[in-house]
Amino acid sequence: MNAIGVDVGGTKIAAAVVTPEGKILNETRYPTQAIPPNRLVETIADAITEVKNGFEVGGVCVAVPGLILTAENKVIFAPNLHEIENIPLDEEMRNRTGLSVTVENDANAAAWGEFRYGAGKDVEHQVFITLGTGVGGGVITHGVLLRGSQGAGGELGHVTLDPEGPLCGCGNRGCLEALASGTAIRRLAREIANKQPRSALGQLAIERQVLGEDVTELARKGDEAAIAVLNETGRWLGIALAGFVNIFNPEVVAIGGGAARAGEFLLEPARKEVWLRARSPSRDLVEIKEATLGPESGVLGAAALARSEDGEYVLAPPGV
Ligand SMILES: [Zn+2]
Repeated sequence: MNAIGVDVGGTKIAAAVVTPEGKILNETRYPTQAIPPNRLVETIADAITEVKNGFEVGGVCVAVPGLILTAENKVIFAPNLHEIENIPLDEEMRNRTGLSVTVENDANAAAWGEFRYGAGKDVEHQVFITLGTGVGGGVITHGVLLRGSQGAGGELGHVTLDPEGPLCGCGNRGCLEALASGTAIRRLAREIANKQPRSALGQLAIERQVLGEDVTELARKGDEAAIAVLNETGRWLGIALAGFVNIFNPEVVAIGGGAARAGEFLLEPARKEVWLRARSPSRDLVEIKEATLGPESGVLGAAALARSEDGEYVLAPPGV
């Protein structure tokens, strides 16, 4: 049986019908900005109905950014998506679509996507980090997604690395998110550009606002200032990963999200910190690599977390 995965984000709502093998049979996208705030629930339901379009489907999982209580299928806090907060989203969706609907954190869903179909498909223990505007995370141990007692676990982006560090979106200081997100890369790029006005990065910063992808592009061209930005960011990432490697002893750490396109400029300094700080044998085993599914990890992982009416995963892994 197929399942539908829905990835609700700040820029788009994507829905897809997915087979047990992870093949997308049908897909639809709606730009979030074009949706009036009071039509969000309706639009998610419309996307599910539209994408279903004659396919046999056993269940739906809606992945949402923010704080989710998966045990209650409830969104506690979702930045810019307030209409879906504190409502029984599963029931609202079931009433509109006639399908069994569960709710999951978007980074947990993406982590599960990489585990089932991407960078972690051959292992049992995987840590996933997504470096976007914010930093999300997800942990799989013994083939099971770590959710914690309420379903709010796996918030790897908000571990404190520097108590006096930059302010984070969560209100704390020096979280991984405040030091290694796309937003953090732009902030650090401004700082280093000011100190090195003659660098290519410095010159660009005089002309216009520097974006994350500019930093990667300049680093590829060999600009030392841009390389320094990514090196510092990768270093913070690695300091956080060293902790996760010690705690979870994963076989794979997969790094996804838009900022992960900087590739080895981030991963190399990150691996170095893990080597310096994590303990043997965990540090010897772990492979730190780029996620492989790109933005599709969200819908694929959500679909693979969809449950049928009897509570079973619709796309159960083989042998389970
Ligand atoms: Zn934080």
